[in-house]
Amino acid sequence: MDVKGKRVLVVGLGKSGVASALFLASRGARVTVSDAKSEELLRTEIPALLDRGITVETGKHGERTFRDQDLIVVSPGVPNEVAPLQHARRLGIPVIGEIELTARFLDGHVIAITGSNGKTTTTTLTGEIVASGGHKTLVGGNIGTPAITFVEHSSTDTWVVLEISSFQLESIESFHPHIAAILNITPDHLDRHGSMENYIAAKARIFENQTAEDFAVLNADNDVTHKLGASLKAQVLWFSRLHEVERGAFVRNDEIIYRNGHEEIVLPLSEISLKGAHNVENVLAAVAMGMAAGIEPVAIRRAVKEFRAVEHRLEYVATLRGVEYFNDSKATNVDATLKALESFPGNIHLILGGKDKGSDYTELNDLLRARVKRVYTIGAAAAKIEQQIAGTVPITAAVTLDSAVRKAADQAVAGDIVLLAPACASFDQFNSYEERGRVFKQLVQSLAALQSASPAPGGSR
Ligand code: ADP
Repeated sequence: MDVKGKRVLVVGLGKSGVASALFLASRGARVTVSDAKSEELLRTEIPALLDRGITVETGKHGERTFRDQDLIVVSPGVPNEVAPLQHARRLGIPVIGEIELTARFLDGHVIAITGSNGKTTTTTLTGEIVASGGHKTLVGGNIGTPAITFVEHSSTDTWVVLEISSFQLESIESFHPHIAAILNITPDHLDRHGSMENYIAAKARIFENQTAEDFAVLNADNDVTHKLGASLKAQVLWFSRLHEVERGAFVRNDEIIYRNGHEEIVLPLSEISLKGAHNVENVLAAVAMGMAAGIEPVAIRRAVKEFRAVEHRLEYVATLRGVEYFNDSKATNVDATLKALESFPGNIHLILGGKDKGSDYTELNDLLRARVKRVYTIGAAAAKIEQQIAGTVPITAAVTLDSAVRKAADQAVAGDIVLLAPACASFDQFNSYEERGRVFKQLVQSLAALQSASPAPGGSR
């Protein structure tokens, strides 16, 4: 694709929009960017764009702006059916997303990973596995570095491992990953996709340009992904925690086995440091992708063994006086909190709350009774949570994260777990789930400093 001298409009100034605009400008395109947000809100993004001669439109999507273009690159946050885009399409202007733009320029082998949950963990681990096999590896996409940035750094022998969201898949045409995985599909983002069928169809597009030379990796234990296998052109590799599969990765006698023609024992489950059954699924998917990429089992084993949780995803923080602290600030919905609770046998002190997303917290009640000693509520959702989980376990209304950590540390005894898995968004008290997780870790570290300054009750550590 040659964009030199072409008029290209980038819609949406998120991370991938900015990266796309800069890339297109570097290739000689005449770039305009348009974002409905005010100039004030885009203060940090705008100067670098103006410096590169890019025209910036803020506070609206002008009709003219959309009409006079050879190509439109749309950001994943912008719904497909907004009026100016529809209008541009009617005029015959091609509208693609950043992943499609990347696909048209990128050299190298692409591994693409999508799913409702586990994308970041599995993408990061798969990147480690491919790197452990000695390949030059770039990891990004929906996490970290936008895919388009890799065009300048990738050559034919590079492996590019991408986390891809369903929104990004809506605007692909020729994107063709050599290895593509759908980890699981559960209801999510239905406000944007309209129905479960549309959501499944968007995710399944990850396979649409694959051929018999390629690999499609699918979860055999998930009802939705199970059904997708039948209609694919690529070679299907399954992964399952629950039963053996004919081709792919599965668990037998507490070992991960890969089978495709013959069998390989890749590693024992005991070498996985990540907590929880859901993470075994993520490892199985990564093993299947690693084997499909031709990585030696011993290199896969080494990478999995060394892999620690991605920050804020059931991340181990510290052990203080025999109490283990875990940061799962990324558990921003009830489902993720359930997964976190299932990852420990019991004795959990659970910090819950933040900004409510209209969730039904009664879904937590069975696991609260079975595994939790006490709940500490924080943030705007506290009253609703307290009301919906009343009668299950004792509740401390802690209000702030600071107070919740101190109160949990007072209550917990050796062998207990203190877990931040709040089932809510963070925006009432923090800027992001990342900030909330970092504050939690700092609070635990200051607790450690305090405790080392004063002897433990009874003199034991
Ligand atoms: P994503 O990038 O898809 O949001 P992450 O790897 O960031 O996924 O994990 C987010 C949260 O989702 C984790 O804190 C965990 O509670 C839950 N999770 C991770 N992997 C899985 C999985 N395979 N199935 C279900 N839930 C998962």
